Amino acid sequence: MEVLGTADVKVDIEDFVAKSGDEWIITTERLPKYLWMWVAAECVPGWAIDSEHLPRVKECLSVVNSTANQLAKIPVGAVSEEAWNAGFGYPPGHAVLLSVILLGELLDNALAGVVFSLPRMKMLSWEYSQFGKYLLQRAGWCLGELDMLGIIEPAVLFYVSSFDRVALKKDHSRCSDKVCLANQIDEKVYQTKHATETCICEHIIVEEEGNRPITEVLHKGDIPIISFDGEKVLVQSSGSTPYVAMSHVWSDGLGNPRTNSLPKCQFERIQRLVNALHPDREPASQVPFWLDTVCVPLHPSTRKTAIRRMAKTYDSAARVLVLDVSLSDTSAGVLADELLMRIRCTPWTQRLWTLQEGMLAEELYFQFRDKAIAAESLPEIWYEANSPIKLCAKHFGRPHVDNSPLETRVFRALASDSDEFLKDEIATESAFETLSRHPDCPNILDHTLLYRLDTNHSASFHPVYFAGWTSFQKLRYRFGVGHSALPSVAGALRGRLSSKMDDETICVATLLDIDPLHILSAKNQTSRMKVLIDSMDDFPPSLIFTDVPRMDLDGYRWVPESFMDKNANYAGLLRAGKPGRRTKDGLVVSNYFSYIFPEDSTFPDAGSFVVKGWESYYRITHAHILTAQVARPAVILEQPPATVSRGIVVDMWREDDGVVKFGRHVGHVSIEALGDKWAGEVLCEVVKLPISYEWCVG
Ligand SMILES: [Zn+2]
Ligand SMILES: [Zn+2]
Repeated sequence: MEVLGTADVKVDIEDFVAKSGDEWIITTERLPKYLWMWVAAECVPGWAIDSEHLPRVKECLSVVNSTANQLAKIPVGAVSEEAWNAGFGYPPGHAVLLSVILLGELLDNALAGVVFSLPRMKMLSWEYSQFGKYLLQRAGWCLGELDMLGIIEPAVLFYVSSFDRVALKKDHSRCSDKVCLANQIDEKVYQTKHATETCICEHIIVEEEGNRPITEVLHKGDIPIISFDGEKVLVQSSGSTPYVAMSHVWSDGLGNPRTNSLPKCQFERIQRLVNALHPDREPASQVPFWLDTVCVPLHPSTRKTAIRRMAKTYDSAARVLVLDVSLSDTSAGVLADELLMRIRCTPWTQRLWTLQEGMLAEELYFQFRDKAIAAESLPEIWYEANSPIKLCAKHFGRPHVDNSPLETRVFRALASDSDEFLKDEIATESAFETLSRHPDCPNILDHTLLYRLDTNHSASFHPVYFAGWTSFQKLRYRFGVGHSALPSVAGALRGRLSSKMDDETICVATLLDIDPLHILSAKNQTSRMKVLIDSMDDFPPSLIFTDVPRMDLDGYRWVPESFMDKNANYAGLLRAGKPGRRTKDGLVVSNYFSYIFPEDSTFPDAGSFVVKGWESYYRITHAHILTAQVARPAVILEQPPATVSRGIVVDMWREDDGVVKFGRHVGHVSIEALGDKWAGEVLCEVVKLPISYEWCVG
């Protein structure tokens, strides 16, 4: 009420109380209506001006935020099953606190839809309460899995706690709060599964010593595809035949590390699903498919050939079908928000190999219980149900004479959108009613308000849908051609795992259109990464600032050990500007602020300290202990030193003509500008270099 009250939105308390059975409950079901009126109240003439009372709103939410974040840490005791079922098993305060956190986050996000000059408004960070985590664990969630998925928003965490993860029967006994190992397989004990738990049918072997139809096709330079006629598996060359490439996680049981075979029931099931993707086929015909378990021979040399042809395999497939056990109990008919969030939470999005399968697919389908769905179709379906007009009908009903002025403004805004309201009969009537009463509609303010209410832009009101859709886009699309796609590929690799971690470079190479031949011959992760890096010349310069473990090799310390580190922040990589140039001594970058320390000063190797620059004092805080002692330290900053910036520490070892400095990458820091007054201890005075300086970081 305090938040809405600042904007003079009158709140009817009765709207937040409802009867559920015999009990009165507090509900936010009608809150969206008030949020819309809030947007309308703040939509005033003048594009860039925000109301003066918005800081008051932020102040109010900040108080709630700091209190809730403190209380969120209170542990929840164990609750017995009987007590839980009776509905009073947990102290009610925990449920109230969780509601407060969810409401606080919602209002804070809604504020983003209300203000224009968003950069001035810093989003608050909301801790998820112990009770919320308890609900997730009850649902069978592994906290390590959520951490690797990068889901931290309370609204989304609360939403996914309604998913049943117990039914997936994955083994999380080796996991921690930070890492999930449930999908890491051990080939020695791996068991191929049947289509149903009780089935004991025979395996059909497709490729073995003395009978190598898959190898034959591979040697001809083509892609082997298979089909199942109910008795036998037929192998053929893809040629121009359309086929479906299957994408799955091995931990679901569809793999086989020992033979190129699968149980007969699995061939039956996959053939049925693949056929269903092509409803227009001849009824008696089988649509061929490609599945790694049988189409990648186990023999080492042909295996390499098949892996080098992997990009072509997924690229040329008419469709790629994702099978993931976590989707198999959900009907394709549930809301688009849920489908997207279910896809977001699949183990499929957490594996290394599936990234290229998703990114290379022409048409990507996800198999749900009753139907396969192309995720690209979901935004349209979602908008159908959540267009501003549909939501207005839901929140406000039809316009009538005693609508409040704010309600009227909402109706006017929607009536100004003739394209949308003509799609819907009730909306058309409602628009005409509004227009008959307000003949001056539309005016500029109506359009402005409509833009703010439009669901396509108001991510803040639909956190689950937007979290699902943005993460889907990330794992689906490469931005840039060839090597320049590295930033989007690196971003999509973050947080993924593979049972064979040194396969990473093969997948990265494939996605950057690099032939993985030489990588396949290199022995370990470091030498594979070196081969990969050596096959490219230009890199996003911000790569040097990403705080992850680095390769320990002269000239290569700017290279991450792995792009899959879940703590990596690749946000800066997409920044336009001059690319970094690879040389044998390291990556040459320019246009960054840098500071040199005097030779006689001792550079602390951990902790935090203050230095004096020409125009300001700076606090430098180490992210970790330095990887090596520094003799001639310098600090390079990612952003101009106005507020807080990421930076790296280098040890200068050479200088060329005074324009290129060579530095060994030894650690990560953050730098905070403190202004020109500082009374505390100062380590030393530093010298600022012009940004035209080139640095060679190795
Ligand atoms: Zn786990
Ligand atoms: Zn079987």
